[in-house]
Amino acid sequence: MRPIITAELVNGPFGDPALYLDFRFEKRALLLDLGEVNALPAKKLLRLTDVFVTHAHMDHFAGFDRVLRICLGRDTALALYGPPGFIDKVGHRLASYTWNRIENYPNDFTLVAHELEPGGRLVAARFRSRSRFERETLPDRAASDGVLLEEQAFRVRAALLDHGIPCLGFAFEEKMHVNVWKNRLAELGLRAGPWLQELKQAVMKDLPDATRVRAWWEDGEGRHEQLLPLGELKAAALQIVPGEKLCYVTDIVYHAQNEAAVARLAAGADRLYIECVFLDQDAGHGERKGHLTAAQAGRMARAAEVKTVVPFHFSPR
Ligand SMILES: [Zn+2]
Repeated sequence: MRPIITAELVNGPFGDPALYLDFRFEKRALLLDLGEVNALPAKKLLRLTDVFVTHAHMDHFAGFDRVLRICLGRDTALALYGPPGFIDKVGHRLASYTWNRIENYPNDFTLVAHELEPGGRLVAARFRSRSRFERETLPDRAASDGVLLEEQAFRVRAALLDHGIPCLGFAFEEKMHVNVWKNRLAELGLRAGPWLQELKQAVMKDLPDATRVRAWWEDGEGRHEQLLPLGELKAAALQIVPGEKLCYVTDIVYHAQNEAAVARLAAGADRLYIECVFLDQDAGHGERKGHLTAAQAGRMARAAEVKTVVPFHFSPR
């Protein structure tokens, strides 16, 4: 299975936390945590649509200015998500600059900041460049089961964890994954092409089997086109499997409540990115600073029955 996203720790396992999730078939990306992002070129930052911040300690939020500066000239909105108190922090960062020239920009860049409250409400506010990033309150909504973002192909869920302060853990869940058997396509006299993306979309939208799908491709003999019922293509050439689940957990104290919350969030995940700040002999240090040791992270990963563990956020100590 080729997941719809590739994941990259922007600063490796030792630098500031920031996990860049790049969509394979779209010019789009998500970011989990916003530490320094100088390693990301502007074109990759411009692909960001949603940024999820675990908490506002500097190593998780210092990249805000670079993202803001690069996105200022664009017209689309950027959504940010964080723990309780996050909207104020975004507002303060914006308010620390002088914006008297911003009206001269031809575009209207909009930031929409969300914070997940302990009761499960998702509170939101908008900051538009046209109005010099004055805060505008938006209606809040229930984030049932911690779902922050729900789209056709995936959802992003959060759990409120304890780091001495509230801190979010995230799960990216691809809803289903559609594999195409290229050899079976060939048996139907069809060739691969961009139309396969439309075919996958039709499956994800759960369109009726009778829906006509336009298969087309170009080769040396020109353009070929055929209309086929979705049901026939599904039965002959597609395999539908559960999608990938990727989790991201960092900066938490080791205790039973956090362990249970991580086990729920990351249950059965294909990949768990989890902090391993300290070695076991530094457990006392980890506890004082509200971080996990390698062994504690391993215990949490086992409790959640995840398939692959990617340790990161190592202390330079
Ligand atoms: Zn922290």
